[in-house]
Amino acid sequence: MSRLTSDLKEFAAEIGLDVIKITSAEPFIEAARKIEKQTRSDPFIDEYWKIEAIDAFCSPQVVLPEAKSVVVAAECYLTSELEDLGSAGNPHGLIARYTRRNYYHDTETKLKKVAKFLKRKGVQTHFKSYSCGPLAEKPMAERAGVGWYGKDGIIMTEKYGSLVVLGELLTDVELEVDEPLVRSCGECRVCIESCPTSAIVSPYILDRSKCLQHITNQKRAMSVEIREMWGNRLYGCTTCQDVCPLNRKVKPKERKPEYGYVGPSIPLIPLLEMSEVEYREHFRHNQMGAGWINFESIQRNAAVALGNIGDPAAIPVLIQSLRSPYPIVRGHSAWSLGKIGGKEAKMGLEMALKNESNSEVVKEIKDALEKAG
Ligand code: SF4
Ligand code: SF4
Repeated sequence: MSRLTSDLKEFAAEIGLDVIKITSAEPFIEAARKIEKQTRSDPFIDEYWKIEAIDAFCSPQVVLPEAKSVVVAAECYLTSELEDLGSAGNPHGLIARYTRRNYYHDTETKLKKVAKFLKRKGVQTHFKSYSCGPLAEKPMAERAGVGWYGKDGIIMTEKYGSLVVLGELLTDVELEVDEPLVRSCGECRVCIESCPTSAIVSPYILDRSKCLQHITNQKRAMSVEIREMWGNRLYGCTTCQDVCPLNRKVKPKERKPEYGYVGPSIPLIPLLEMSEVEYREHFRHNQMGAGWINFESIQRNAAVALGNIGDPAAIPVLIQSLRSPYPIVRGHSAWSLGKIGGKEAKMGLEMALKNESNSEVVKEIKDALEKAG
C-alpha cells in the first residue's frame, strides 16, 4: 500500500471512521443498469429517475469531474438504549436505529477532516464529500470492499454487519484501491423469512410497494393490511436487520453523537398537533426534518401507530386530525379512530363525515364508523 494511502487510512481510523476503503472514480455501469431495470418495474419510483439521472447517480465524475478516487467510509450506529419510551397516556412511535441520531452529518464531518488531511499533505485540490448524498453509495461500498450485499439488499460489513451509515469522499488524488470482499450470506434466509410484509421477494430483490422502510415516506395511502403490520413504527423499519445473525453479533458503541438526536421513539400526540413549520424546526438537525421527507407521510404514520397502540388518550388528537389539510392524514386518522373505537371516537367520526368532501376520506370514515360500533 502506498504511504499516502496507509497514512490516510490510519488518520480516518483515528477520527472514528469504522471502515475506510478506496475505489476508483470510474462509473458504476452495472449498478446503473440494475437501477434502470428496477425503475421500469416499480410504479413508486419518482419521475426523477430518468436514465440520465440514473447515469449521473452512478458516475462520481459527474459530481466531481476531476475525481480519480473515492474514499468510502462506514460508521456503525449501534448503541445500547431503551427502545420504546412510551407509556399509558403518552404513546410513542418507534424511530429506526439509523435515524435516532444524525450519523450522516457525523460521517460527512469526518470525511471533510480526511479531505483536510489530504490538503495538508499538499496533494489534493478538489474534493466533495457526502453521506446519504447524490451518489450510488451501495455499489461504491461494494466495489471498494467495505461490504457485500445482504439478501435484504443492504450492505453488510465484516465487523459491524449492516448497522452502518455509508459516506464517500471524492478526490482528485490517485489513491491505491481496495479489492471487493469475497463474502456472501451463504444459505441464510432469516431476513427473507422474518420480513413482516414479505417484501423481500427473493434474495436481493425488494418489492418497495410492500417494504415499510420505503412506505415511510411515500405520500399514498397504506393498504389496511399494511396498516395492521405497521405496528407502532413512526419512521423506518429495521426488522430484517434486527433478525440478521451477523448484526446480532455486533457490539454497541459507547460513543453517541448528540447532533440531530431524536431518541429511539417520539411522542405521537404532539407530533400530530404540529404544523409543518414546527415539525421542520423541531427536527432540523435530523434527517427526519429534511426537505425530501414528506410531512403528511410522517403524520399519516403517526396516526396509524396511534390506532395500533390503541391508547384512548389519542382520541382527541385523532379527531382533531380529521380536519388536517392532508387527505391521507384525515383518512388514516379515521381508520385509527375506528380501531380504537368507543363513543367519543364515534362522535368525532360522525361530525367529520358531515363536512368531508373527499370521496376516499368519506369511505375511510364510513368504514371506521362500522368498526367503531
Ligand atoms: S425494512 Fe422491514 S418491510 Fe422492508 S424488507 Fe426489511 S423487514 Fe421487510
Ligand atoms: S439475515 Fe441472513 S440472509 Fe439476511 S442479510 Fe443477514 S446474513 Fe444475509
